[in-house]
Formats: sequence, C-alpha cells, structure tokens
Amino acid sequence: MRFHKPAFFLFTLFVSAALFAQTANESKLPPLDHFSLDQVDRSIDPCENFYQYTCKKWIANNPIPGDEAFWGPDGKLTLWNESVLHEVLEAAAKNDAARTSVQQKIGDYYFSCMDESSRNSKGIAAIKPELDRIDALTDKSQLAAALALLHQNTFSLASATDSGSKAALFGFSSGQDLDDATKVVAQLDQGGLGLPDRDYYLKDDAKSVETRKQYQEYIAKLFQLAGDSADSAKAHAEVIMHMETALAKSSMDIVMRRDPANLNHKLSGAELKALTPLFSWDDYIRPLAPPATAHYLVATPDFFKGINQLIATEPLDNWKTYLRWSLINNSSNQLSDDFVNANFDFYGRDLLGKRELEPLWKRCVRGVDRDLGEALGQAYVERAFSPEAKQRMLKLVTALNQAMAEDIAHLDWMSSTTKPEALKKLAGIEDKIGYPNRWRDYSSLTIVRGDAAGNAYRSSQFELHRQLEKIGKPVDRNEWGMTPPTVNAYYDPQLNTINFPAGILQPPYFEKEMDDAVNFGEIGATIGHEMTHGFDDEGRKFDPTGNLRDWWTKEDGKEFEKRVQCIDDEYSGFEPLPGLKLNGKLTLGENTADNGGTRIALMAFENTLTDKQKTVKTDGISPVQRFFIAYGESWCGILTPEVERLLAQSNPHSPNEFRVNGVVSNMPEFREAFGCKKGQPMVRENSCHVW
Ligand SMILES: [Zn+2]
Repeated sequence: MRFHKPAFFLFTLFVSAALFAQTANESKLPPLDHFSLDQVDRSIDPCENFYQYTCKKWIANNPIPGDEAFWGPDGKLTLWNESVLHEVLEAAAKNDAARTSVQQKIGDYYFSCMDESSRNSKGIAAIKPELDRIDALTDKSQLAAALALLHQNTFSLASATDSGSKAALFGFSSGQDLDDATKVVAQLDQGGLGLPDRDYYLKDDAKSVETRKQYQEYIAKLFQLAGDSADSAKAHAEVIMHMETALAKSSMDIVMRRDPANLNHKLSGAELKALTPLFSWDDYIRPLAPPATAHYLVATPDFFKGINQLIATEPLDNWKTYLRWSLINNSSNQLSDDFVNANFDFYGRDLLGKRELEPLWKRCVRGVDRDLGEALGQAYVERAFSPEAKQRMLKLVTALNQAMAEDIAHLDWMSSTTKPEALKKLAGIEDKIGYPNRWRDYSSLTIVRGDAAGNAYRSSQFELHRQLEKIGKPVDRNEWGMTPPTVNAYYDPQLNTINFPAGILQPPYFEKEMDDAVNFGEIGATIGHEMTHGFDDEGRKFDPTGNLRDWWTKEDGKEFEKRVQCIDDEYSGFEPLPGLKLNGKLTLGENTADNGGTRIALMAFENTLTDKQKTVKTDGISPVQRFFIAYGESWCGILTPEVERLLAQSNPHSPNEFRVNGVVSNMPEFREAFGCKKGQPMVRENSCHVW
C-alpha cells in the first residue's frame, strides 16, 4: 500500500499484490488457471464445505512454491504478468542507442538491479555518503534536516510492504482533505516501525516474543554487515528495539484507524510546532520545499507528542543509530547479496514462512514496477490488454451497477430519506478500467546504468516531490493508486472510484472465452466487492463527492450497525490456526464487501437469464451453481502458517477459505441452488445480510 493514501483509504481485493513461483522459461509464459468443472471434488458435499468442494483438488495439485508465502490463481497470474514484464525488460536492458527515453529508463534500472557483481563489489560503500552525513551530526537540533534527506531517499522504498520497511519516524506526503475532497493538503502520519504493526512490539505471547528476538538479531546482523563490531551491533540493536517500542506505544492501533474521524486532525503550522516543539519543522520542510498548504492533516497527533518525548529522552548517539538503521534497512535490497539475504531471512523466512529467496529477475521486475510503474505498464498494456476486454468489462460493470441500484431500492431496513443519497453515491462511482488515460511523465527522473542504489534513491525523490507538488492544486482524478500489471483492484472513497488494473483482467478472474456465469462469479463478484466498499463500515462515512460527511439518518445508521455486527460476530468465530481467531472488527469492511459483492454479482447474473434459462442444466450443473463454483475456484489458495498468523493479526482481509464459506453460508440463493438443509455447515442459522 502506498503511503500517500494511508491504509484505510484504499479498499483492496487481495492481501497484497502477491508474490510468486518458479523461474519462468525465458521464452515461454507460465500457465494460467482457468475455470473448470473438473476441479470440483464431487466426493465432497458442497453443503458441508463449499471451499473444499471447489478447492481441495486445486490445493492438492498446487504445492506452495519455495519462494512464496501464499499461492493461488492470483499468484499464478502475477507470475504470468511478471514474466511478460521480464521479456520487455530483457529487451529494454540492451544498451542500444535506438532506445526511446522510456526504454532507457526501465532498461537501465533493470540492468543495474540485475548487475549483481557490481552491487556485490560496492557493498555498503554504495551508500557511504549518506551514512557519513548521519555520522557527522553534532546536535539533536539537526535531526529534522537529516530526516528530510532520509525521507527523500527512501520514500518509495519505505512503502514497499513486502519487506516490512517503513518511513523513518513518521510519514510526510499529500492527500485529499477529509472534509473537502477537492482540496489537496500536506499529510502527516505515524511510522517508524520495522515490524508489521504496533502489537508486534507490545504483545507477550510466545510467538510475539520469538518474533521480536528474531527481529533484534536481524538488526544486529545488518549493523555488523555495515561495519560495526559484534558487540556494538548488539548494543545498537537494543537501542533500536527500545526506540521502536516507544514509537509503537504512541501509535494508534489498526482497529481505531478504521474510523476516518479518528484520523481527521487539521493543524496549522504553529499548532504542529506546538505539538512537537523539540523537532524543527522549519528545517524539515525547507529542503522538501512543498507548496503552501491550507493546513496539515495530522492523522495521529498523540504519536507526534510521543516523538517529542523521545527526542527529549534519547541522546544524540541513539538518534544517529536510529537514522542509520532506517537508511540501511530500507536500502538493504539495493545493496550486496549479504544485505539482501539478511533482509530475506527475517522478512521472508521468519515473518512470511518462505523457504527461498525469489530469483533475481523477479525482484528486479518488482523494483521497476515500484519506481517506474507507469512507464513499464505501457508495455504491459500493449502486450496483454485489448480494447475488446475493456468493452466487455464495462458491460459487466454496468450490469453490477444496475443490480446494486435495485438492491438499494428494495432494502427493507433503509428509509426513503437515506435511499436517494445511497443511490446518488452509487451513481457517482467512476469506473476506471485497465490503465490511466494519461501516462505519468518521468522525464525529470535520471536513471544511471550501473547505479542500483542511486536509481532507487532518485526514484524516491521523484515520487515524494511528485506527491508534494499536488498540495494546493486541484485533485487529479486521472491518478491511479496501482500500476497496470497489478493483480488487485481497489475502491477509493475520496475520489469515489473503482479501479481495475489490466493485471487482474486476465484468467481466471476475467475470461474472454467463457460464459456469463463464470465471469459474473469471478470478476463480477470483485466488481461488486469494490462497489460495496463505498457502503461498508468505513466507506459509508464518505459522501458521493468523497467528503467525510454523515448522509444517513440516525435510525438507518443504527440498522446498518446492527447488520454489520452480525458479520463481525460471524467472522470473529473463525479460527484459522488453533487458538488464533480472526479479528471481526479489523476485517469487517472486507467481509461486508465479499458478502455484498457476491450477492450483487449474482443478482446481476440472474438479470441476464430468462426463467427458463435458470433451470437448464449443463453437465449436470445449473447456471447459478456454475456461478458459485466459479466464485469458489477464484479463491483457491494456500498460505504458510506464518502468513496465516500475520493476516489474522494485522490484515483487513480474511483468509481465502472464509472468504468463500463465510459468504455462501449467508446466502439463501446458495442453499437453494445446492439443496442444502438446515443444520448443515453452509447454512448459517443467523445468516447476515447487509447489501
Ligand atoms: Zn476489499
């Protein structure tokens, strides 16, 4: 997730833009999954466990690759997309004078990343000037200017969630004002944690204690690789744990963060200074030179008070250690292999349960996608996304829109005062499909062949300044929060848009060769999912223009709360690992979207059928059964136990099994289609229904 939209602002489909498998054959693209009735395990009663009915065979036939932490059709598609990009980049990396400027940038970035021997011979020396600058600090009053430099160099690196790195101390960027979505203002948010979430620092269970021990060992390892003696590396690791734990204690927890009102604090420059008097905001802002802001949107003021406290109590040497740590940790994947491997051992192996590091080409493709995503994305769209695909997708979106409008119109729990507002919001959703109308201009970004760390730093500087330049200007509605090859989708409540990158509009989510039942069950449910996010526990708090404004009557708000409580209770009962329950409040928005999205997709599909067509069975399967099987198959997947734990603790998405069974067990349409009886596991006694 990109920092400039704090996590709660974008409601996505998947856990992350997945990672993937075996080295692809250079000249051949890896296979994709497709909908298939052969995948169904007919020895299992669909009313007993629908997820097993649709996915048991898939799971048996698709062991998790060693360099993956989760694996499903989305992982296969990501591998396919990255293999396409791999071919594009191999060609662009040839030092050919005929290359276009875009080809030079993506090609030389990729080449520098792939040049392992050069990165290995430089080692930590690649970032020595930055380390020397930190070393030369003589007074805590210089901390702010040093942090501004660090933020410029690591802005994008720190937002790469798969390595767990985070912005040093706090995040600074721009974003839409919560009360006036037409305005772009400067935003400040908590940050500074190398572990995935504040709870990782504060919980006392055996697993949390073990993870902290592994993390502290990793910190010491990195300091040693950077030249510290074993003893001082160990002492420095203790300082980092101590300081990050203090930051964790001042951080707002993830469930609190789900209510946008908790993050809506407008501060003037003077108020910001008063909040953190020991931090020189003038020295921080000056080198970044952002345009004037109407005010600062400070998500978590208490966190900034905590920073002030920490500046007061920690000596200069500890701050230098902290800055050095943040620089090295965020840069480790751009350095020599010993840094890359140490980073993998903790973030890949210990935290995610991967068995091996991804091959270099994949890591480099991801680097280009992160830093030059819309330059690389143009080539992906040319290769893999046709205008016909866009047209069919638009038709599906229109059908889903109509179905959701019917759903709202017929709700028995919503009054005639709130309904027109809900319909207005629905009608106002803009559909963005495939790729941006206008590609990002990277011409001011210099990419130097052979300078891997420098390319990453310059890309971060480019991106931070691009974000800051938006302050005070009209909102750019053309902007995308994901790159075109991404296998994911999102709803943006402040723009009121649903966004489907070309990367997800491929099998088995969108299948040009397949019938409507399949496509409504696959991508249709996803379209419904993203639309429903506009009406989930968070999304409903934004109005059609993206402002944080309550458009519900009090009574209707209460009725809504009552209905989502049912979903909260349902998912809180799920136990992915023995003793580890899902957090029903953390996953509430995603679960509401899964339930609403699937129901609306089914309505839209049934609208395409005559009564007679509904009863016609093909291969012994009715159209509605086919819809549900396509839905189930699209969610097949396996996770390492480590990821299962990570998700349960800090991710708003439920594990796949519950995204299938948790939904169908609420649906009378499912019961009817498969002839399920009361008392069977896929028939919930108190079934939940919001949308
Ligand atoms: Zn979602």
